[in-house]
Amino acid sequence: VTETQRKPDWLRVKLPVGKEYRHVRSLVDEHKLHTICESGNCPNMGECWGAGTATFMILGNICTRSCSFCAVATGRPKAVDLDEPSRVANSVKLMQVKHCVITSVDRDDLKDGGSTIWAETINAIRRESPETTLETLIPDFKGQWDNLDRVIAVRPEVVSHNLETVRRLTREVRIQAKYDRSLECLRRISEAGLRTKSGIMLGFGETEEDVIEAMQDLYDVGVHILTIGQYLQPTKAHHPVVEWITPAQFEKYKQIGLKMGFKYVESGPLVRSSYHAEKHLFDMQ
Ligand code: SF4
Ligand code: SF4
Repeated sequence: VTETQRKPDWLRVKLPVGKEYRHVRSLVDEHKLHTICESGNCPNMGECWGAGTATFMILGNICTRSCSFCAVATGRPKAVDLDEPSRVANSVKLMQVKHCVITSVDRDDLKDGGSTIWAETINAIRRESPETTLETLIPDFKGQWDNLDRVIAVRPEVVSHNLETVRRLTREVRIQAKYDRSLECLRRISEAGLRTKSGIMLGFGETEEDVIEAMQDLYDVGVHILTIGQYLQPTKAHHPVVEWITPAQFEKYKQIGLKMGFKYVESGPLVRSSYHAEKHLFDMQ
């Protein structure tokens, strides 16, 4: 194990605890519900489930893309499952999720990019759990903006699209994506008047200058909520962790972001896109 592979102490996983967490846990076990929190082995489950937040993935578990940081399998996805919207809505209801985060694999194989299932899932959750707020972590829809518009039309409380990394490393980190296309996607969400969120991961070899440039680009297209976390390598075949960013450096980015004008900045080693998501519902007026 080399120095860069060894995890620093501040990345030690927090043990899930608390009454609310145990309640949700038992519902998940009893009904065999599937969440990203669990399948992604997320270190924040105790906190998020305790606060009523959970993340679900739709449109299958095989992605048409092959980002070098991501643990999701690449390949030819299965046919779209038309029952998925009602199944996810049922899980949200059973788990009594207060703030529901939905994400998906990228479906570049589909003409609508999966946007119809996206919209139906949101509508189904709204029908079953009208009190639940929704956050959608969406793909760039390959720049086919009519597909993005289908999600915008159902007006989730928060719409998120992750930039993932800085401009200079985009090709190496997410080969099928484009930095400027992601910015354009975010600009359109923000211009539609929706709470707009994005995230980047650090540790791919970016400089402080690169990070500040990315933050400024995100701010300039109208992003309100920014998350910054440490990249962790899912397997040896994935992009290496080039650097462990210190908690002090994360705090520095947070202060820079707040000064820039973001409404919320979550920045820390264990921050994930949906971490503390329930706190980011602010008044749009
Ligand atoms: Fe689930 Fe996201 Fe929270 Fe992790 S950060 S437990 S994936 S809601
Ligand atoms: Fe993973 Fe998303 Fe990239 Fe697909 S598009 S490989 S799910 S990060």
